[in-house]
Amino acid sequence: MEIRKLELKGVDSKRPLVIAGPCSAESREQVLETAEKLAANGIKVFRAGIWKPRTKPGGFEGVGVPGLAWLKEVKEKFGMLTATEVATPSHVFEALKAGVDVLWIGARTVTNPFAMQALADALRGTDMPVLVKNPVNPDLELWVGAIQRLYNAGLRNLGVIHRGFSSYDKKIYRNAPLWHIPIELRRRFPEITMLCDPSHIGGRRELVAPLAQQAMDLNFDGLIVESHCDPDSALSDAAQQLTPEVLDYTLDMLVIRDNVQTTENISVLRKEIDSLDTQLLQLLAKRMGVSREIGTYKKEHNMPVLQDRRYDEILGSRREMGESLDLDGEFVNRIMACIHEESVRVQMKLMEK
Ligand code: PEP
Ligand code: MN
Repeated sequence: MEIRKLELKGVDSKRPLVIAGPCSAESREQVLETAEKLAANGIKVFRAGIWKPRTKPGGFEGVGVPGLAWLKEVKEKFGMLTATEVATPSHVFEALKAGVDVLWIGARTVTNPFAMQALADALRGTDMPVLVKNPVNPDLELWVGAIQRLYNAGLRNLGVIHRGFSSYDKKIYRNAPLWHIPIELRRRFPEITMLCDPSHIGGRRELVAPLAQQAMDLNFDGLIVESHCDPDSALSDAAQQLTPEVLDYTLDMLVIRDNVQTTENISVLRKEIDSLDTQLLQLLAKRMGVSREIGTYKKEHNMPVLQDRRYDEILGSRREMGESLDLDGEFVNRIMACIHEESVRVQMKLMEK
């Protein structure tokens, strides 16, 4: 695949390209009021979900086709391009008919190859700009596969959106950023236009600005940010939407480092190290938790903390595993010995209680 930079009519390619608008189109008034304010602040591309994928039935599932007329009005009144999410061929058909300028494919849809192929077939023969969000699960190949299906259908005006990855145990972020995944995508496709969606990664208003800055520091091309004229009353994703005023301030505060020298490559790698260290520590904490549970079990069943054979087994098998991953055996031994020592300490403490 030879993927070129995304081109949007009338939008210059200066970093950051910003797409903004509400999570969902809710009413004509909400759409027009939000768009007018965003346009006045220089936003050129307006987003709004017309069909909303909700985890459980019964939530607000979008206004559907009638909302497309509001997007048309946004185009006519404020000269903005419009963007919406499509998940089925009939969404594509309706969006094209209504003159929507940019389509994005949502994280849930990208996980499903059948749905992706159906969308690629529906788009075949058009040169629609399409943005592919990462799948909800951290699977780079699935993300690449979705892009390939569109590419194979003849689409060339493509880009991607990093919106973070879902996890069972939610921590700081609604969707873990796992920056190393989009970084690897960029390594494979250096020209691909990458936008970051700090709203869906953060899930909370106050995380949008720092995430947007991190994305800029990682040389993302742009941002897609949820903005609503009255965020607290939003029918979906209320906690993560910004007013157009706050968005404007947030964008003003961004530091755009465009001196693309070797040092920039180093900072990209350092961010990757930061992200990997976070994961390492989270995993270590998880492992310690399990070890604590084992300790409780041993205590209740009157078993000794130390079982020598198990320790030997751990050291031996981990060393082998590490070596197969190109890690130095001695290094793996030292780490495992240190982790084991801490596990024993934690379990001994449990015994005292
Ligand atoms: C959205 O952009 O509002 C949306 C539903 O996004 P995602 O597919 O990333 O969850
Ligand atoms: Mn949303």
